[in-house]
This record gives sequence, C-alpha cells and structure tokens, in this order.
Amino acid sequence: MLYRSTRGRTTGLTFQDAVLMGLAEDGGLLIPETIPALTPLEADYPELARSVLEPFAPGLPWPRLLARAYAPERWPRGVAPLTRLGEDFLLEIYHGPTYSFKDVALQLLGELFEHLLSQSGQELNILAATSGDTGGAAIYGVRGRERIRIFVMFPKGRISRVQELQMTSVLDDNVFNLAVETDFDGCQQLLKDLSGDLEFKRAYRLGAVNSVNWARVLAQTVYYFAAWHEVRRQTGAERVSFCVPTGNFGDVLAGWYAARMGLPVARLVVATNDNDILARFFQNGIYQRGPAVNTLAPAMDIQVASNFERYLFYRLGEGLTPAMEQFARTGRLEVRGGDPLFESGSASRQDILATIRNVHERHGKLIDPHTAAGVAVASRLKRDEPLVCLATADPIKFPEAVREALGREVSFERDNYEGRPTRCQTMPAEADALRRFIALKVDRTAPR
Ligand SMILES: *Cc1c(COP(=O)(O)O)cnc(C)c1O
Repeated sequence: MLYRSTRGRTTGLTFQDAVLMGLAEDGGLLIPETIPALTPLEADYPELARSVLEPFAPGLPWPRLLARAYAPERWPRGVAPLTRLGEDFLLEIYHGPTYSFKDVALQLLGELFEHLLSQSGQELNILAATSGDTGGAAIYGVRGRERIRIFVMFPKGRISRVQELQMTSVLDDNVFNLAVETDFDGCQQLLKDLSGDLEFKRAYRLGAVNSVNWARVLAQTVYYFAAWHEVRRQTGAERVSFCVPTGNFGDVLAGWYAARMGLPVARLVVATNDNDILARFFQNGIYQRGPAVNTLAPAMDIQVASNFERYLFYRLGEGLTPAMEQFARTGRLEVRGGDPLFESGSASRQDILATIRNVHERHGKLIDPHTAAGVAVASRLKRDEPLVCLATADPIKFPEAVREALGREVSFERDNYEGRPTRCQTMPAEADALRRFIALKVDRTAPR
C-alpha cells in the first residue's frame, strides 16, 4: 500500500515514510492510494486491530506492537468498553494512561515510532500543538523512549489544570513542554510554519503526532469496528450510527474511513460546540472560518480542522488544491452537493451543562463536556438504528465544568496530578523563538 498527498505532489510513500513525515512535504495530508475493503474479525482488541491495520501497512510486527500498545496494564477497563445510555450507547475510549481517547492512537504511535527508528537508526523530534489532550497523550506515548524527543506547544492559560499538570509533571529528559502566548489556532499555525520550513524540518528531523499523522486516523478506525460488533451482538442490528464530538475532524474521519472499508455505518453525526464551522458545513456546504471562541469543551475550540482536508479530497479530487488555496486567501470555500452519510449539530454552553446534569441524574453517570456536546446533539436526532456516542475524555480532566453543571463538588476516581514537580517553558508565538529553542535542545543533547 502506497501513500500520496492530498495536494498531489508528494507520492509513492510507504506507510513507514508516511508515519515519519506527518504532514506531507507539499503542504497536504497523506492518504492511502486506495481504501481496501475489509471483513474484520470478531476478536479481542489487538487481534481486531491487526486485521484492520495490516492491509494498510503490511510487513510490520503488528502482533507485538499491538500487544504492547493495548496491554491490559495500560487499559485496565479495556480499550473501548461499550456501556448503555438509555436507548443509546456510550463508547468509552478514554480509559488509557492520560484519560482521553487520544491514547488509543498515541500509545500505538509510540510503539510504531520506536520500532521504525530502531530499524533505521535515525532520530525523530516530534513537534506537537495541543488544545489540551493531544499533548498529554503524545507525551505518554513517547516519554523515555530512545531516539525520540517531543516538543509540545499548548495555548498558555487555556487548557484545564489537570491537562496542564498531566503534561508538565512528566520530567523525562526527552520531553519539552512549551506554554505559548496564543490560542490553539496560533499553536497550530506555529506547527505549520515549522513543518512548512522544509530545510529546518529535514535538518532537525521533525515529525508530527497531531491528528494529521495518518497512523492516528488509521488506529482510530479500529474502535468503530469493535463497537459495531458489540452493538450487533447486543441488539441484532446490522447498521449502526455514531455521534462524534469533533474538533480537528480526526476522530469522525476515522469513522468515515471505517465506512469506506465496508463497515455498515448508517450515519456519522458531527457534533461541535459553539465553534460550529464543521456543523455548518454539513448543513449548507459552506466552509467558512470564524473567530474561535472559548468553550467548556476546549479540545473542540477549533476553527480550521486540520484533518478536514482529507475528507475534502474525496469530495473534490484534484480540485482540492485550488480550493485550499482559495480558503487560505479568503477563509471560505463551498462544496456543491451533500453527503448523506453525515449529519451535524452544535451544542451551546447551556446544552453541555444541561446534558452533564441530565445524564448524571438519569443514568448515574458522569460525562465530560466534550462527550456531553455529542450526547446533546445526539438527543435531538430521530433514530431508526442503534446510536453510539463516542465518550472522548474522562470527566476528571474537566472538573470545573462538571462542578458547574451539577452545582456541587464531585470526587473522581482517578489521579489529578496535584502536588507533583513540573517543568515548562513560556514562549511568545513566534516561529523564530521556537526554532531557536528546538535547535538548542537538539544540538545540546545530540548523540555524538
Ligand atoms: C481531541 C478531542 C476531541 C476532538 O477530536 P478530533 O479528532 O480533533 O475531532 C474531542 N474530545 C476530546 C476530549 C478530545 O481530546
């Protein structure tokens, strides 16, 4: 299986190249040249994952990598347990090391990087921008691993305390936390600036773990298959819908790929918060940038969804490049004709709070504000088929929102990282400052 860029000028890459490159060198996103049709096994999670991943990346020691990434010590409650929420289902993909669904992909990506680099003898310096959850999950994926350093930028003062402590309390020598004086889109812009500086990118062997990395999207397709098998087992239904709290469009895109591989998906529901650019797109075909607003679900406070380009490629084909150039100039693009697989909706602050409260009252279950945005949107849908809401974070990551919703203190089951030593560097939102920081750390710690 070979990979190409959505922009068409980077082609013929292997899976290994695609994973290490992250963003394509022509500025596009890497995608498989074809999407294989699959009949995935009804098996335990690592074995199911192997059956899904192998056609996209043959020749890797998948059983070993997957056995480690999804070991029960890392996932004491399973990788993707399905629970009931009234007539719907909740797919709890947040029981990994950093309490967010991003662990599903990043635990595997850490294993993959380590394997690929040990084969080639090369090093990798990962640069990441996080709205809160990617950073922790990426750091826990690669902390302490040989041949890898990680630099994580987060918007200073705009992520939750648990999220920040989870990252900054990791003191491994290969981990660098950067609090950048900007918002998340500003952090993503810095990431794009440095990834677009090919000379710097090559000299410092920069790689990406953001959801632009193909391996992340691919790893996330697996739990759609797992959920589908389980729902069919419980209900007998052949077709299942999924409601996905959406920010960078990585998670729901994985569902779309699963459907393209042949999984009988009835509908994919794109749920946003007040940053509703994607919800609007799936209603009127117009993708138009607006100002990002801060909400209770910060991992979804995104205007320009980096993974959306992959989906647009399948809608526009070679028309993608001019459309993206137009979007870069004007902040707007329009795609004619709809896509019957998708539905969308957005959840306001009040919707999120009321949903956390209602779910707790009715079902005795705490959900986080991102999951609540999805459940709020799902509650408005008419359904003829079973609906699975993806639960993307443990509520302990967002205790302020949960407290506000319930109007009282709550205690959580998991560690909140308070009281540990931390390490973090504050930085202005300037590409040159970032270049200098990376150069200093890499040159100083480079093996001789
Ligand atoms: C990252 C994240 C999302 C959004 O996922 P995308 O793949 O960016 O659409 C939703 N909820 C939580 C808790 C997240 O961390």
